[in-house]
Amino acid sequence: MTTAIEVRNLSYRYPDGREALRGLNFSIGEDECVGLIGPNGAGKSTLLLHLNGILPEVPGDGAVRVFGQTDLAGMRRDVGLLFQDPDDQLFCPTVFEDVAFGPQQLGLPETIVTEALTRVGLSGFEKRSPHHLSHGEKRRVCLAGVLACQPRILVLDEPTSGLDPRGRREFKTLLRQIRATKLIATHDLDLVAEFCSRVLVLDRGEMVADGLSGEVLNDMPLMLAHGLERPHTLQHRHPH
Ligand code: ADP
Ligand code: MG
Repeated sequence: MTTAIEVRNLSYRYPDGREALRGLNFSIGEDECVGLIGPNGAGKSTLLLHLNGILPEVPGDGAVRVFGQTDLAGMRRDVGLLFQDPDDQLFCPTVFEDVAFGPQQLGLPETIVTEALTRVGLSGFEKRSPHHLSHGEKRRVCLAGVLACQPRILVLDEPTSGLDPRGRREFKTLLRQIRATKLIATHDLDLVAEFCSRVLVLDRGEMVADGLSGEVLNDMPLMLAHGLERPHTLQHRHPH
């Protein structure tokens, strides 16, 4: 299997001195869909920000490789990152411009913007101001912007947080249709159980588990030790 993401000995300390990632090692194969779980403050977002070079300790030092590449341009082309907070991602006066920004950088045609907005259920929103949309709508605009770049790897930071049940269902339908390697940080363990064959568990900056979702999510002592619980969808089944 082709390796999509390879992380070797990745540590990161924020400028204020806080140690957020400690010696992480893992790799993700092409076309895998992997969940990333762990309590608040575990380092999930910090890790994801390293995968397209937003927070590199030393840029291009090889701690993160994306399809073997260590250069930021290559990593950013291949990794589409959906930020945890949509307000960190949106910066243009209109929805159209926001979604068009990435594809323009990559020299992709403008028609892709309309297609992406249609995919996320926002056709007709082109002239709206992203900052005057609901949280769920902002999320969709961000996702459209990511999808419009056609990344080989989709990295999603808490994609269903703050969505209503219909929003979650629609997001799952969309997720099912997307062909890409996926890494999803989430507190939605049912989402992990449904979509991810494998799950990584992060706590206090350390990788405390990396295994099959069916096994990790059913490991009650492990889940409880790291502030997690067994997903509801698995609770009627017998643990391993
Ligand atoms: P998670 O996404 O798992 O909730 P984060 O990656 O956001 O965790 O945070 C990991 C740790 O880094 C936490 O202790 C958090 O307080 C700290 N942290 C996050 N962002 C910053 C920042 N900009 N400056 C300093 N510390 C930060
Ligand atoms: Mg986070």
